[in-house]
Amino acid sequence: MSHTNEQKMDGNTISGVIKNNDESQKIGIETMNILTLNENETSPGRTKVQDLGKKCEAAQVCHHHGLKFSYEGPAGPENWWKLEPENAIAKYGKEQSPVNIVSCECCTKDPEKPTDLEIKYEHSARGHIQHNGHTVQVDWPVGEIIITDPIGTLGKRKVFKLVQFHFHTPSENTLDGVSFPMEGHYVHAAEDGQLAVVAVFYKEGAENEFLAQFWDDMPMKETPKPFELVQDIMSKPLCWDTNDYFRLMGSLTTPPCTEGVIWTLLPQIHSASPHQLAKFKSAIPGKFNNRPLCPLNKRNVVRCCQ
Ligand SMILES: [Zn+2]
Repeated sequence: MSHTNEQKMDGNTISGVIKNNDESQKIGIETMNILTLNENETSPGRTKVQDLGKKCEAAQVCHHHGLKFSYEGPAGPENWWKLEPENAIAKYGKEQSPVNIVSCECCTKDPEKPTDLEIKYEHSARGHIQHNGHTVQVDWPVGEIIITDPIGTLGKRKVFKLVQFHFHTPSENTLDGVSFPMEGHYVHAAEDGQLAVVAVFYKEGAENEFLAQFWDDMPMKETPKPFELVQDIMSKPLCWDTNDYFRLMGSLTTPPCTEGVIWTLLPQIHSASPHQLAKFKSAIPGKFNNRPLCPLNKRNVVRCCQ
């Protein structure tokens, strides 16, 4: 969580260029609402966000506060909630990601309704690639998706611009209990700061044409800032089938694990070559960067298929 370049907080809005790692740019509206909610929280047994910080100060032996998050050790996922006060949602949230998607328990969307994942990407766009210490991320402003009816937020057409994509190994979400060697998160942001992530699973198989466009340029160690790729990345090889997907509400899978993220998971498994998968794995410290599964709780998962 070291990555708020050029970001400005302005009351309840977020503005400026979003160039953080992972989905973590969402420290805007949702986080602030969560903090407000928890400050007013009176139910026993639930620690107020502000108290978490106080407890750290009082004990003076808090080994966690201020540590950079990681995937194992003292700053690992089970302690993310202690690293910063705004991370409390990682422990107390009820709509955390990732989750296991159980297909047979999914409601089916009315097939008469049009797809709620409209993709409007340009032919290509220049990418900037970075190894941020946790993952390899490509900032790629190629266009937008439009979502009109995410669960629980029936409403109007909402535009989410693609900001960046990055990868996890092994996959963070699972499908019917199956984990995949890699998962891509294509992170889109709306003007109000809400995020919509399209998640793509990768299995071992044929070389992935989309990834092949920049895989050779992947930095194998942390880079101080993103660098521009020499060639534009074309969108066509993404090959997403937008007529069949899972939809649910969730969170960032990295601190501060903010909720309110619209997740779209594609059940069509894409392939990547053994070399492509191995290269990404070897770029990641510890060879894995997946947050453990979180409970689904009372969330609905909808399978939208035409
Ligand atoms: Zn991610």
